[in-house]
Amino acid sequence: MKRLLILGAGTAGTMAANKLAKHLPDWKITMVDQHQTHYYQPGYLFIPFGAYTPDEVVKPTKKFVPEGVELITATIDQVFPDDNKVVLEGGQELPYDYLIIATGTTPRPDQTPGMEDGLRDNVHEFYTYEGTTALGEKLKTWEGGKLVVQICEMPIKCPVAPLEFTFLADAFFEEKGMRDKVDITYVTPLEGAFTKPVASKHLGSMLDDRKINLEPDFMIESVDAEAGKIVSFDEREIPFDLLVTIPVNMGADFIAKSDMGDDLNYVPVDPQTLLSKKYDNVFALGDASDIPASKAGSVAHFAVDLFEKNFLAHIQGLPMTEAFDGHANCFIESGHGKGLLIDFNYDTEPLPGKYPLPGVGPFSLLKETELNHWGKLMFRWMYWNILLPGKELPLPALMSMAGKEKEAV
Ligand SMILES: Cc1cc2nc3c(=O)[nH]c(=O)nc-3n(C[C@H](O)[C@H](O)[C@H](O)COP(=O)(O)OP(=O)(O)OC[C@H]3O[C@@H](n4cnc5c(N)ncnc54)[C@H](O)[C@@H]3O)c2cc1C
Repeated sequence: MKRLLILGAGTAGTMAANKLAKHLPDWKITMVDQHQTHYYQPGYLFIPFGAYTPDEVVKPTKKFVPEGVELITATIDQVFPDDNKVVLEGGQELPYDYLIIATGTTPRPDQTPGMEDGLRDNVHEFYTYEGTTALGEKLKTWEGGKLVVQICEMPIKCPVAPLEFTFLADAFFEEKGMRDKVDITYVTPLEGAFTKPVASKHLGSMLDDRKINLEPDFMIESVDAEAGKIVSFDEREIPFDLLVTIPVNMGADFIAKSDMGDDLNYVPVDPQTLLSKKYDNVFALGDASDIPASKAGSVAHFAVDLFEKNFLAHIQGLPMTEAFDGHANCFIESGHGKGLLIDFNYDTEPLPGKYPLPGVGPFSLLKETELNHWGKLMFRWMYWNILLPGKELPLPALMSMAGKEKEAV
């Protein structure tokens, strides 16, 4: 009996298990995750503003594990790829014929000097369940001052989430009648509001419209929580009363320990097939890989759709014919019940225009509409009921140019 081992039962690991289990009834499939809870991370954005309650973003992991698949709750300690085995904390050994690494990426406040000193006091984050819940409590009683939203380093998962947080904060304080008491600054290591020029121009002007200061090219060196300031390597200082940081994001530590990752513990893979560059029986899916696409649930979803066919070919010794293009599709909340949509891939940056979707769409690209906001909210239902169980969504896995307009920057 062949053994497939899936490390991580988050978005990508769970989708892959559901897609593959039905084709491999005679295989022993095992999943390992450190948590018994599955977190819907896109929902973390809404919790600080009271739009979602924490219990709306969690469900038991085992609810999404297909029948016949074993789920082990444990922390992964090390992979021995030359021996085809994984060792868990506590010493249990799991041999495999094929391995899928889907352990995602994690915010690491310990990577920036001084950041942990003020954590949950005047330094907050919304990239973890505990963090976003604590920030929600903080905002209930915060009386205003200097709010700094700051990204430490790219790549981060959902690279638009910090901008969305900033737009939602602007709307939240306005609706509370205290916007004049809050000075908002958006601090980024990028040279503009976003990674790609056309989107950066659109999103940057939205910051201007909302009187939000933009501080680009800021490479953080340290946080001085007591003095309330962040300091960059080129010795710029930005004062804050409340810092909402997106800490350095990194792949799991066991990847470094197993000597299978790059500097940030991401697994080098072929960007089209997600097969490890080093090991012919190891794939990395979702945020855990080093592909030059956004680290996003939508990317994991489109990639896993194609991976399913490739994996089934690969185990039969056939060539993998599907080529993933880095397709990402993200709604961007902009506040007051509106949002934007961006759709792009490895080669094509987010462009304005329309995103056709029969029955519901078209959605507007790079333009604020109420329909885009509803699209974002609908997504939670689709995540739990269609995506995680591995069912088909009527969305093409590869990006299409239909509806997109070319724009001079
Ligand atoms: C605030 C926020 C907003 C977001 N918004 C969006 C959005 O609007 N749209 C979108 O597409 N994406 C969004 N994302 C990103 C999306 O949630 C992730 O890209 C997606 O979950 C990646 O899936 P994954 O399976 O690679 O990783 P995850 O879903 O993070 O799963 C990784 C799993 O591995 C487990 N694990 C890690 N290390 C170990 C270990 N050593 N031992 C055992 N288990 C381990 C973890 O417990 C976890 O269950 C958002 C993320 C955040 C934080």
